[in-house]
Amino acid sequence: MHKHIGKKQRIISENIIVLTSMNRDNIKIIRSAKRKKTIQAKMVDSKLWIYLPSGLTKAEEQKWITTMIEKSENQKRRQKLNSDGLLQKRAKELNKEYFNGVLDFDIKYVTNQISKFGSCTPKTNMIRISDRIAKMPKWVRDYVIIHELAHLDNPNHSRKFWKKVNQYKYAERAKGYLIAVGMIDE
Ligand SMILES: [Zn+2]
Repeated sequence: MHKHIGKKQRIISENIIVLTSMNRDNIKIIRSAKRKKTIQAKMVDSKLWIYLPSGLTKAEEQKWITTMIEKSENQKRRQKLNSDGLLQKRAKELNKEYFNGVLDFDIKYVTNQISKFGSCTPKTNMIRISDRIAKMPKWVRDYVIIHELAHLDNPNHSRKFWKKVNQYKYAERAKGYLIAVGMIDE
């Protein structure tokens, strides 16, 4: 039953907690004396196994369990959002429409940008879009993509940058929308 854990780690205690209030899959807590520092979680079938060091207080355990559930949920959401390729497809279209298709980039949704709608790392050509944007109207999403695409060549909010971004006819409206939902630029 514990073949995933490794022979060297002796399991001190273990039990299964179902967090009904969070509407979760079963969660299995594995406490190990050997696991001094690392706290990890992995999915085994449809159950989340959370490895904790023994000796934590109940409150500490609960905090870690909540954190690990959140991480796991975020990962699931991220994978799901990025698996259909729609964001990449739309970004390619907007690259063609607004940048003559010359931009080279990777784009993906991330779940750790709560108030920042997007970010761009020109060095690696990586664009990260907050997963909150996925649920917003298409014209807002397009604005965010164009905004971040424009940063590939213009890291700052220069006049040149805004000239490019403002070619998008809903730019002003989208800026207002994002401010209203509490999302800002980097
Ligand atoms: Zn910006």
